[in-house]
Amino acid sequence: MINRTIALAKYKGTFEQPDIFGYYGGFGGAYIPEMLYPNVEELKSRYLKIMYEDDFQKEFRALLKDYVGRPSPLYHAKRLSEKHGTTIFLKREDLNHTGAHKINNTIGQLLLARRLGKHRIIAETGAGQHGVATATVCALMDMQCVVYMGEKDIERQAPNVARMKMLGATVIPATSGSKTLKDATNEAIRDWINNPVDTHYIIGSVVGPHPYPDMVARFQSIISEEMRWQLKEHTGSEFPTHVVACVGGGSNAAGAFYHYLEEFAVQLVAVEAAGCGIRSGMSAATTQLGKAGILHGSKSLVMQTEDGQVVEPHSISAGLDYPGIGPLHAHLYETGRALFLSATDEEAIDAAFELTRLEGIIPALESAHAIAGLDQLKLTSKDTVVVCLSGRGDKDMAAYMKAMGE
Ligand SMILES: *Cc1c(COP(=O)(O)O)cnc(C)c1O
Repeated sequence: MINRTIALAKYKGTFEQPDIFGYYGGFGGAYIPEMLYPNVEELKSRYLKIMYEDDFQKEFRALLKDYVGRPSPLYHAKRLSEKHGTTIFLKREDLNHTGAHKINNTIGQLLLARRLGKHRIIAETGAGQHGVATATVCALMDMQCVVYMGEKDIERQAPNVARMKMLGATVIPATSGSKTLKDATNEAIRDWINNPVDTHYIIGSVVGPHPYPDMVARFQSIISEEMRWQLKEHTGSEFPTHVVACVGGGSNAAGAFYHYLEEFAVQLVAVEAAGCGIRSGMSAATTQLGKAGILHGSKSLVMQTEDGQVVEPHSISAGLDYPGIGPLHAHLYETGRALFLSATDEEAIDAAFELTRLEGIIPALESAHAIAGLDQLKLTSKDTVVVCLSGRGDKDMAAYMKAMGE
C-alpha cells in the first residue's frame, strides 16, 4: 500500500478529470467527424457550467432521491463475507429504478439536453439497460426517443426491448458487424451527424469523445459520494481497502471509483469479461487484449487486428460485450492505479449463483463478474471491500435458467 502510494505520486491529479483537451494521460481526446464539431463543441463549452448550476443540482438531486430511490443502500453481505474471510459491502445499484446504475447518467444528461434546447434524444444500448433508462427518462420528461440496438442483443434481451417500446421509444436494430453494442454505437453516431441541431446523443458509458467520459463519470460519481458516508456509518471510516466493479465501457466502475481515485491507499479493482477465456478468441477483456487505438471518438485501448480492424468481442453478458474501454480506465490500467482482472462466462454464472444462494440477491450477469473477481483477490479479515452491484438479474433469467438446465 505504501509502495503503491509512492509509485503513483507522479500521477496525482490526473485521474479525477482530464486535461483541457480531454486526455487522461495518453488517452481520451475528441476524434470526431467535422459534421459533429458544433454538437461536441457546444457540449464541451457548456457542460460543466450547466451541471453545477444551483437549479440543475436541485432538480438532479431531487430526481435521484424521489424517482431513482437514492441513496442506494450499502449492504453488509455477511454470508458472502464469511465465505471470503473478509468484510464485504454491496453497493446496491440494482435497487435503482429501472434496475441498474445507468439511470443516474441518463437523468443527468436529459436535464442537460433540455437546457441546451434539444427535444430529440438518441442512445445506443447493449444489454438494453441504458436504452430502458433513456426511454424511461424521455417518457418522464416528454422527449422523443430513438434507441439503437444490435440485432443480436435485441434477441438476447427481449424483455428490455419490450420495456423500451412500452415506454414509447423507437428501437432501431443495428444489423452490421457483430450486431452488438459497437455496431449500435456506430448507428447512433450516424444519426447524430444527420440531426445535429435538435438532437442530443446520450452515451451510456464513460466512452466517446471528450467531454462524454468526464461528464458521465461525474453523473455516476454519486455512487462513491454515497459510499463514503455510508461506509463511515457502518465502519467508522470512509475508506475501504478495495473497491471492486465490473467494466464494460466503465461507467459503474468510474462512479464507484470516483471519490477514491486520488486516495491511493484504496485499491481499485476492475473486472473485465474474459468470455470463453482471454486467449480463446472469444473474449472482451480489453486491457489484456487491446492496443492503443481510436474507437467511437476517443483514443483508448481497443481490441484490434494487426492492421487496426476492431475485433468482435464476446461475453455472455451483453453489457460487457464491447471491444473498447473508457479512456479513464485505459489510464488507470497503464499507470497501475487500478488492478485489472477478468472473469470468464462460466465464472460469472457461478458467482451469480453463489450470490443468489448466499444473500438472496440475483445480480445482473455484468455485476456477477465483479463478484467473481473476489476469488482472485487475496483478502484477509482486516480488509473492507465494497463491490458495486451494478444491476439486477431479471433481464438475465434466460441465461440463468439455461445454466440450471431448464
Ligand atoms: C451497462 C451495464 C454494465 C456495463 O457498463 P459500464 O459502463 O461498464 O458500467 C454493467 N452492469 C450493468 C448492470 C449494466 O447494465
